[in-house]
Amino acid sequence: MKSHVSLEVQCPFCMKSFMCEEHKLHSFPSIKLNVMTPTQRGTIHLCSVYECFDHVSDIEIPDKTIVEFTCPHCNKELLVKEECKICGAPMVSLTLKTGGRVNICSRKGCSNHYVAFEDLNSELLSFYEKFKYGHNH
Ligand SMILES: [Zn+2]
Ligand SMILES: [Zn+2]
Repeated sequence: MKSHVSLEVQCPFCMKSFMCEEHKLHSFPSIKLNVMTPTQRGTIHLCSVYECFDHVSDIEIPDKTIVEFTCPHCNKELLVKEECKICGAPMVSLTLKTGGRVNICSRKGCSNHYVAFEDLNSELLSFYEKFKYGHNH
C-alpha cells in the first residue's frame, strides 16, 4: 500500500495555518485558500495529500484558467515570481509547517507541483513518522 503523506501548510506572510479541519479530503484536513479568476472570487479546498490533485471549489474554474490564490487570513497574494516549467503560469508557494515549501502551478488543469525541502530526507522522514503514529486532530 502506498503511504499517503499529508502536507501541513501555512501562509508565508502571516504564518497562519491553511489547514481546514471541517472540510476533510481523503480523511485529511484540506488546504483552504481564497481564489480569484478574472470573473469570480471564491474559496478552494485542496487535498493535502502529496501528489493528490483533488480539490473542491465553490466557484466554477474553467480549465486552463490562471487562478490567483490569496491567504484567507491576511489576503496577500501567494503567487511567486517563478514560472511553471510546463505552461509558463505563475507558481504559488505555500510554506510547510515543518520547514521548506510546496510550489503548485496556478493554472487549473496543470499538474506541475513540487516540494522544495531544505533537507529532503529528514523532512520526508518526519512526515512518514507522523503518519505511522497516526494523525490526531
Ligand atoms: Zn496570510
Ligand atoms: Zn503549469
